[in-house]
Order: sequence, then structure tokens, then C-alpha cells
Amino acid sequence: MTTQSLEAKAKALNDELEALDLAGRLARVAGLDGRAVFTTSLGIEDQVITAAIGSNRLDIDVVTLETGRLFNETVALIDETEETYGIVIKRLHPAKADVDAYVAQYGMNGFYDSVDARHACCGVRKLKPLARALEGTSYWVTGLRRGQSGNRATTPFAEADLERGLIKINPLADWDIETIRAHVATEAIPVNPLHSRGYPSIGCEPCTRAIKPGEPERAGRWWWENDEKRECGLHVAEATSSIIPNASGAA
Ligand code: SF4
Repeated sequence: MTTQSLEAKAKALNDELEALDLAGRLARVAGLDGRAVFTTSLGIEDQVITAAIGSNRLDIDVVTLETGRLFNETVALIDETEETYGIVIKRLHPAKADVDAYVAQYGMNGFYDSVDARHACCGVRKLKPLARALEGTSYWVTGLRRGQSGNRATTPFAEADLERGLIKINPLADWDIETIRAHVATEAIPVNPLHSRGYPSIGCEPCTRAIKPGEPERAGRWWWENDEKRECGLHVAEATSSIIPNASGAA
């Protein structure tokens, strides 16, 4: 598909999804030609999407990046979620040779030493497995929300990812955190117990801390870095559509 047609398709889909509720958005994507993949980090938003996919038996593959540095609570939640919804969450691990090479060059926790070293770790443990997860995929479903950070304030429902040659779907783009929490409580959706201990956004254990009252939701991610727009590279601004105004990057 050409860049222009991918952008036009994303724009049309974005307008269509805006009028639908969450289940309708996901069902629409599941019904399109082409493989749809949802990448979950088991965060509260992702659990809402997984519940909708599992409860409605939608034809969307659910995968997670098992980086090898996750919290025990996150790993346990993968199993619990599979059991709750009778689904399989495909775990994608980093290649051992890549991890060994990283550790040899930077050390196991070298990501604290520089932004480059941190990006290299995310590249090995997240980006390369993500590329495998998205091979042959037409629609990539994510849990991005506009309220998660200023960096994500203009997240559309559908956007062309020109770098990966697919359309990224953000069915919770317009949900706020209060709506998410209420939905989780009403539907009894299992969530990570760390959320109630001050972790609104949960990534790898060594790179996530609890936030203080009043801090932005993602302040606990890579907290030692100064760049307010820090992300892991899963969602990059350069790859988004120029047709959808202010399409934002995310993670
Ligand atoms: S979040 Fe931290 S541990 Fe996880 S891949 Fe990135 S740098 Fe490595």
C-alpha cells in the first residue's frame, strides 16, 4: 500500500471509529481484512482492551513483550488474565544473543548510565520483539490515551504508521483515567495490584517507580532522565500520519 493510500485509509477509519464505543471499535477492526494484533503491557488500559477482546471473542491476537525485567505482579497477571477470559496471550522474549551482547557492552543495568544505553536496552528487550510481533500485521491495537501525558494529548483513534506500514488503532484514545477505573470496577477486570500502590504506569521493574501525589501519570517511568517526552520507542512520532493533525507519539 502506498503512503498516500495508507494515510487516507487511516483517516477514514479514524472518523469511523470516533462514533463507536470501545466494543464497536474493536469489532470493526477485527472485521477488517488483514491481521490485527493488540500489544499489551498489562496496564489498566490494556486490561480494559483485553477484556473486551476476550469477552467478545474478537479475532485480534493478543501479545505481550516479556522483557525479562518485568515485575512479578505483571508476570502473574498474564496468567490470571488468560484464565479469566479463556484466551492465549503470546509472550515475546528478547533474543538471548541480543541480551548477552547488551550486558557485555553496557552491563545488566547499564540503562541508568546514559539515554543511549537505555534506548539500546529497550531496543533489545522491546523493539526487536515488537517487530516480530507485528510481522504481517495490518492493524496494531494499543492502549494509548490522550490523558496519559502531554506527549499523547492528540492521540487519534487510527493513524498511519508509515515506518511499519500498518495502521495503529487506539480505541481508548478519548477515555480518561476515571472512566477506565470505573469500567474496571464495574466489569471486575483483573488489574495489576501495583496500580493501587502508586504505579499508574507500569513498565520494567528497574525503570518504574511509584509516583507522588500530583505527579503526571508517567512520571515514574525512566524517572532519572530529564527529557519530559521520554518514551521507550514503541510509539514514535516520526512514524505517524501527516494527514491526522498533531498525531502524537507514545509508549
Ligand atoms: S524499560 Fe528499562 S529494563 Fe525495560 S527494556 Fe527499557 S531500559 Fe531495559
